[in-house]
Amino acid sequence: MSTLFLRTLREDPADADVDSAKLLQRAGYIRKAAPGIWTWLPLGLRVLNKIEGIVREEMDGIGAQEVHFPALLPREPYEATHRWEEYGDNIFRLKDRHQADYLLAPTHEEMFTLLVKDMYSSYKDLPVVLYQIQTKYRDEFRPRAGLIRGREFVMKDAYSFNIDEEGLKKAYYDQRGAYERVFQRLDLKYVPVFAMSGPMGGSASEEFLAPMPIGEDTFALAPSGKAWNVEALTTPELPAVDFSNTPAAHKEATPDAKTIDKMIERANADHPRADGRSWEASDILKNVAITIKHPEDEDHDEPWREVVVVGVPGDRTVDMKRLEAQFAPAEIEESTEEDLKKHPELVLGYIGPMVLGPQAEKAGVENPCRYFVDAHVVKGSAWFTGADEHEVDYYDLVYGRDFEADGTVEAVEVRHGDMSPDGSGPLSFERGVEIGQVFQLGLKYSKALDLKVLDQNGKAVPVWMGCYGIGVSRVLACIAETHHDERGLAWPSVIAPAQVHVVATGKNAEAFEAAENLVSELEAKGIEVIYDDRKKVSPGVKFKDAELIGVPLVAVAGRDTVNNGTIEVRDRDGENNVAVPVAEAAGVIAERVAALLK
Ligand code: ATP
Ligand code: MG
Repeated sequence: MSTLFLRTLREDPADADVDSAKLLQRAGYIRKAAPGIWTWLPLGLRVLNKIEGIVREEMDGIGAQEVHFPALLPREPYEATHRWEEYGDNIFRLKDRHQADYLLAPTHEEMFTLLVKDMYSSYKDLPVVLYQIQTKYRDEFRPRAGLIRGREFVMKDAYSFNIDEEGLKKAYYDQRGAYERVFQRLDLKYVPVFAMSGPMGGSASEEFLAPMPIGEDTFALAPSGKAWNVEALTTPELPAVDFSNTPAAHKEATPDAKTIDKMIERANADHPRADGRSWEASDILKNVAITIKHPEDEDHDEPWREVVVVGVPGDRTVDMKRLEAQFAPAEIEESTEEDLKKHPELVLGYIGPMVLGPQAEKAGVENPCRYFVDAHVVKGSAWFTGADEHEVDYYDLVYGRDFEADGTVEAVEVRHGDMSPDGSGPLSFERGVEIGQVFQLGLKYSKALDLKVLDQNGKAVPVWMGCYGIGVSRVLACIAETHHDERGLAWPSVIAPAQVHVVATGKNAEAFEAAENLVSELEAKGIEVIYDDRKKVSPGVKFKDAELIGVPLVAVAGRDTVNNGTIEVRDRDGENNVAVPVAEAAGVIAERVAALLK
């Protein structure tokens, strides 16, 4: 400690927003260079290297081979996959002296795909799984939480290449298994969460979230232990309702009632229900005009806009993110006035299903909008909804009797207590930090970049790809976030910067000699030690630093060593405190280290 490049801080840095950012800075692991950009100090680098080591072992263990790409890359490959634009402001772009465009890679799908294309050409070359542990750059809108959302960060990214989908599935489950082992070895709690695969395209995907209150991601947890992110949640099919006693649909005037509240007020006053209960928001079928922004396709040379209408129960609001996921890769937005001009049949405030989708032709509507209903709108249910005339509504309009839809979508926000997709019970919500993700990319990148190999029949076929990321520096912060107390960090032994923190106290040379001998003996046994050999530093300060740095075992040579010939051995948090004769100390500690590392 007298020579270690370290300066511990007693106060929290002013702009540190979460415990891990505070403690990693105070304990001298990292130092801020710029917003979201961090310098690794000796202690921090040791921990980072150990985490990387565990990730490497598990990757190598499933046969993945390590490579290393540059972070500085030319524009062209990212142009080919449209990501040069799609990433928007999120990537760092730069020019070289010849004005050619470059970027600092936010992720490396393109490069891995092109590398395999460059070197491989036959099914006989496959499967192959490649990975790297590398620095990524993303110009995050809001860097926060120290290493958790940085603009420069360390990621392990792996990519699998297979001749068929079955091979991809195996590679995916191999990675998934490796992830579980990595997080278990790191003593980091994780929840695999079913995810929609988002802008990367492709099909099956799971995110690994570390549950913690500071997380930015919300996930839904079922009693079965299964979890989903909100976009991936599906509503289990609800049983159809018997409508044999529902009267025929009828239109009624509902003047001055454009809002749900006004509609209910009017209906209760003017058209009370036959069954005696009063009208509620959940009786209303709210029809919302949404514009889908389709990318160009076979029939359209340019991106094009389509107005669709989505029917949702009146007591729920549309969740645009969930709804958008249903129409991916298209994006959606609320229909503009311009969009609506093309659909005079849509009477704002009174939009109803009878001029939409399957009903439109009968109503004489040309070029009608497609009509979708939310999954909570069940067959046979009767609705109070717009009649496509100003100030007129339908009552007892039955889905499946009076109107149909072009499809069912997940359109509304999910609520605490909604039934889980697997039917195991009500959902609850928790927050977490995404520490990793596994993706079955499918053919997206191989098609975009023309990665093909010859199959057994000599035919050129695109390669099935998967991609798999772990946020290595984020994982370090998440471990700090979940392994500390108010006095400092408390690392799991496997990644602590050392296993033992030896402290020599007092002014007596005998204590320092005993400590030094202990350090030599421990090091000879292959145990990593931080030795606080500082003279003129009080025992109180030394103990505080030991707790702040967070090494799992502490050994103290001081007054007791001089008076009784013993060394005190204890856990970081003060537990399991024993006085051991000097001669036995190294052996006792070695046993405790071995037990901790088991
Ligand atoms: P997020 O939703 O948190 O922005 P992401 O889904 O964009 O993450 P991926 O592209 O899946 O991230 O990257 C793989 C992994 O890299 C993530 O699971 C996460 O652990 C890590 N990661 C992503 N962005 C950052 C960042 N800004 N700082 C640190 N780690 C990050
Ligand atoms: Mg992700």
